[in-house]
Amino acid sequence: AKAAGRNGFCFFDAQMNADTHERLGLELDLRQALAREEFVLHYQPIVDIRSGRLLATEALIRWQHPQLGMIAPDRFIGVAERSGLIVEIGEWVLNEACRQMMLWQAAGLPRMVVSVNLSAVQFRRSNLEVMVRAALNRYGLNPACLELELTESILLQDSEAFIDMLYRLKALGVKLSIDDFGTGYSNLSYLQRFRVDKLKIDQSFVRRLQDNAQDQAIVTAIIQMAKSLKLLTTAEGIEDEAVRQLLAELGCDQGQGYLFARPMAAEYFADFARSTVSA
Ligand code: C2E
Ligand code: CA
Ligand code: CA
Ligand code: CA
Repeated sequence: AKAAGRNGFCFFDAQMNADTHERLGLELDLRQALAREEFVLHYQPIVDIRSGRLLATEALIRWQHPQLGMIAPDRFIGVAERSGLIVEIGEWVLNEACRQMMLWQAAGLPRMVVSVNLSAVQFRRSNLEVMVRAALNRYGLNPACLELELTESILLQDSEAFIDMLYRLKALGVKLSIDDFGTGYSNLSYLQRFRVDKLKIDQSFVRRLQDNAQDQAIVTAIIQMAKSLKLLTTAEGIEDEAVRQLLAELGCDQGQGYLFARPMAAEYFADFARSTVSA
């Protein structure tokens, strides 16, 4: 540990220094990655849970590191959020997803929605409305083809400015969904107030659905509530057929998970989409 520095507030220990150092290094790397276009989006299908028909695709970021290979978002999104770099990364994600959608539509792929994850920092530090409107215009996309996924924690920012922004986004015609639903806070009044369209039931409840009565009770309650509020539901993390069937019986609308397909690079996704149409 080091004593107070020249300014009197430099009170840190070696571990904290190492962590900070590592974070700053990663921050620099992320900035370079953006400039060098090392990020890629993979796409995971979202299907009608009964018919299996392709309805949407979620864009998920990966970092194609020149030395380390493919890096998962959980490894760098946190740092990107703390450094504010998520604003630029998020803008890249939105534009890239819209660009890809435009290409797929031009190639005659079936109409579907593309879903993009948003971070709370993007609400605080950027004008999302302007950014979303620009991306839709740039690629000539119908706003109804774009869905924005918000986590419950985003909805805790109950400020006027935040609520105003949600209304503006809704007014553009894009869809809003709540990601990882059920893991956040229990104040549900926001569901009505913020006019979301869809709840994505968190995979932690879906995973053990068959043999865990408690998870089954929670999922049943979420689906019932969604129905009475006229919201759609998507179950995430469906890995086997028995779980799909159970969810369909409970009245869930849409499914996403390895049972249907893993997230995949854009070129594979196009093949997947075509194969489901001809099936
Ligand atoms: P998420 O939004 O909840 O995305 C779903 C995650 O579950 C993805 O992990 C997906 O690959 C994984 N998954 C889907 N189906 C299954 C399944 O059947 N079994 C299992 N075990 N996993 C499944 P991924 O791609 O590693 O993304 C992790 C998280 O990183 C995302 O969770 C999201 O919170 C964040 N993320 C990804 N892309 C972005 C982005 O562009 N912006 C922001 N802000 N966050 C992102
Ligand atoms: Ca998501
Ligand atoms: Ca999720
Ligand atoms: Ca998650």
